[in-house]
Parts: sequence; structure tokens; C-alpha cells
Amino acid sequence: MSSTALTNLLYLIASILFIFGIKGLTHPKTALRGNLMSAVGMLLAVVVTLRSQQHLDFGWGWIIAGLVIGGAVGLVLAVKVEMTGMPQLVALFNGLGGVASAFVAGAELILRGDVIGGAEFSDAFRTQFSIATATSGLIGAVTLTGSLVAAGKLHGVKWIKDGNLIPGQKAVNFLLLAGAIAIGYWMYTNPGYFPPYALMVLVAAVLGVLLVTPIGGADMPVVIALLNSYSGLAAAATGFVINNNVLIIAGSLVGASGLVLTKIMCKAMNRSLRNVIFGTLGPTAETASADDVYAGKVKSASAEEVAMLLDGARRVVIIPGYGMAVSQAQHAVRDLANLLESRGATVEFGIHPVAGRMPGHMNVLLAEANIPYDKLLEMDVINPTLEQVDVGIVIGANDVVNPVARTDPKSPIAGMPIIDIDKCRTVVVIKRSLSPGFAGIPNPLFAADNCLMFFGDGKKAFLDLIAAVKES
Ligand code: NDP
Repeated sequence: MSSTALTNLLYLIASILFIFGIKGLTHPKTALRGNLMSAVGMLLAVVVTLRSQQHLDFGWGWIIAGLVIGGAVGLVLAVKVEMTGMPQLVALFNGLGGVASAFVAGAELILRGDVIGGAEFSDAFRTQFSIATATSGLIGAVTLTGSLVAAGKLHGVKWIKDGNLIPGQKAVNFLLLAGAIAIGYWMYTNPGYFPPYALMVLVAAVLGVLLVTPIGGADMPVVIALLNSYSGLAAAATGFVINNNVLIIAGSLVGASGLVLTKIMCKAMNRSLRNVIFGTLGPTAETASADDVYAGKVKSASAEEVAMLLDGARRVVIIPGYGMAVSQAQHAVRDLANLLESRGATVEFGIHPVAGRMPGHMNVLLAEANIPYDKLLEMDVINPTLEQVDVGIVIGANDVVNPVARTDPKSPIAGMPIIDIDKCRTVVVIKRSLSPGFAGIPNPLFAADNCLMFFGDGKKAFLDLIAAVKES
């Protein structure tokens, strides 16, 4: 077998590992195995690529140093970053993927720019090279700066404000996009010429910032999924620049799965992609003030009072949200669920697709606490049953149980499907204060007649509840 055939065969094996890896990620039970399979596939792809490039006289020292430094940074980040910081980390990874693709395409242009116009390259190859390089520079740079802004917003960096940075930002975005297409044409007519590529990266970097700054509040999950898809497209384009089959396949897989995730997230929030990217979000002048919504209407309860309620409850539903992740309450939540079940109650969990700060956030946390998967019910399954629930406990969720999504067409989250926990006979909301959630708007659930607020840190509140239920 020729060395090229062997390389392609090993690339095919790596690609199959990626595909089965992604399939494994669709369920918490198989996610770990899926992750491992994809990692092994990537290791194989890297080793085979390096072996197939042996004829090039590159310094192995640089490659080993890069692998060691990059691997060490990745390891430290993965171990140290809290579960609640994962979305920012994912956003950063997307951005780094984008910039790596743009760098590789740029390096290839510098390396082969002089010879690409020569007779040994066909016109067809020149066209592929120019279009792929332009695409890689455009999408890679948009992904980098867009992801940095998204990571900053998710991290709550104060100086990254929501909303437009400049007047007429939408029009400027269209102009920048038109400019990028013109630069792409310049690259196409001058294959191998570096300056238009540098300009493309600059224009795209500005476009990435301007595209993501106006998107705020609850729409961030869609943005992260979309940027994830972009990072894959940039990698696939770079695969065409350097003619590397496994990069084209891996990039296409990331691009396609990111797009599928974007669609799922849009559906979960009942928004069109166009509306997410070009719509406005966050509290507006028409959003009711917290005083209007809460003044004189909020009832708070103690652990003992909630324990008395739970004592008579036959069916209990728990809705986890971002605050459960912050307080790392999942083990205490499991212990209370087990305690109530040992006393004859049925306990289930209602999972909203965008609860927390990343897709599948709640499933991951509850799986970590060994809560059986069949107890985790998706929003569409649990919603029709909530009227028969005696006590609904909301822990650290806010936007995903905010009834204004149903009732106020002017609300920034209007139309987003929510968990209808307000339909339970009694609702207990556990959070530290009346502060809003990610979307920044008040939640009339907290002032509803059938709602009791149990103020406190999620984990501590559950531990207090367990003690109170045991005593009751
Ligand atoms: P929210 O962000 O709406 O609300 C979380 C609530 O948790 C806050 O109101 C906060 O109230 C409370 N909280 C914070 N810390 C604690 C703690 N230690 N103990 C108890 N409560 C705490 O969360 P949801 O899960 O309801 O909704 C997710 C939101 O995030 C949606 O708007 C979604 O669009 C967005 N998002 C989702 C992503 C995803 O992929 N899933 C990604 C990015 C954004 P208080 O301060 O009073 O305690």
C-alpha cells in the first residue's frame, strides 16, 4: 500500500472515531466514551499528519514545545475551571479553533504565495486555494473576536456592554461583509498575494465584534452554538488550503453538528436565527420594573415551613437552573429526592433545554450526582403533567420558569417555551434574592399567589430542607 493510501486509510479511521464520538455525546451515559473516542481519533489524525509531513524540514522542537505547552494549558484549564465557567471555556476554545485555522491558512499563503502562480499549479488549484484561504481568514477571524466577546459576556465582564457599539451598526455590518467579499475577489484575482489576506482578517475581526455585541441576554446559547459551527467551517476551509482530508472531514463535522445544535437551541427558545442575530434583547423601556412586579406580593418561607408542605406532598417536581450549578447543590438535591421517595412521594426533574449556561448543563450535573436518567423529564414531557403536582421546587432557575414568556408579547423572552411550574399546586423557589436571571428581567412567578420564596444559597437551602424534613 502506498504511503498516501495508508495516510488516507488512517484518516478514515480517525474520521469514523469522530463520528461515533459525536454520536456518543448525544446521551450522558455514553458521553464519556464518545469524548474519549473523539480524542483518540484526533491523536491519530495529528500523529498521521506529522508522519506524512516528514519530508518537510520543520523543527520538531517547535512542534513538541507547542504540544507540551498547549496540552498543559488545556489540562490545567479543564481541571481548574468550575462547571459554571465551562460555557466561557467552550467559547474560548471555539475562538482559538477559528484563529488557528486563520493562522494555518495565512502561513500557507506566506509559504507558497510566490510559487502558486507558477505553471506547476493548475488554474483549478489556484481557484480552490484562493477561495479556501479567503474563507478561512474571514470565518476564522469572525469566530475569534465573536467568541472573545461572547466569552466576556458570559463571564460578566462589565465593560463589554450589550447593545450597539456604534450608530447604524447593522448597516456597518453589511458594509463590512460586502467589503470582505470584495477583498475575497481581490484574493481570487491575485492568488498567493498576502496583503489582501491580512486586510480580510482585519475586517473580519471587526465584524466579529460588531456582530456579537448587540446579542445579549438569553440568546447567548444560540450564539455559542453558531460560533462553534463557524470554527468547524473555518477548519474545513483550511483543510482545502493545505489539502488535508481529515481536517476537511473534522471541520465539516463540527460545522454541521454546530448548525444542528444552533437549530435545536433556536427551537428551544422559539426564535428564528435571523431574529437572534439581528433582533434586540435584554430589558427595554417597556419591561416592567422589579418594584411593580414584586412590591408587597412576595411571600418568603423557612426550611421548616417548606418541610411541612413536602410532608403532605405525593408528587414533587424539581426544576434546576443555573443557580444549582453555582451552588453545586446537585448532591444535596439527590439526597432530598431520595429522602422524599423513601417517604412515599414521587420525585421527578424537569429539564429545560437552555437551563444553566450550556447545552445539557443540568443533565451533566444531575448525572454526576447519579440521579437516574429516567427521572429527568424534558420540558415537553413534564409540562402537561404539572397541574397534578403538589409541590414544584425551583432551584436557581429564573428565565426558564418566567411566565412572561407566555403572557407578555413585548417581553425580551416572549415566545420562549418555559417550564410551566406556576401551574403546580404550590411552588417553592430557592434562590438568594429577587435578582433577575441571565435575561435581566423580573419574574412574576415569585409574586404569584401559589409561590413561596425560600431565600438562600441553593446547596445550603437543600441541606437545611433535608434536616427539616427528617425532623418533621
Ligand atoms: P437564570 O440565569 O435565568 O437564573 C439563575 C438564577 O440563579 C439567578 O436568578 C440567581 O438568583 C440564582 N442563583 C445564582 N447563584 C445562586 C446560588 N448560589 N444559589 C441559589 N440560586 C442562585 O438561569 P436559568 O437556568 O433559569 O436560565 C438560563 C439562562 O441562561 C437563560 O436565559 C438562557 O438563555 C441563558 N443561557 C443559557 C445557555 C445554555 O446553553 N444553557 C448559555 C448561555 C446563556 P440570585 O442571584 O437571587 O440567587
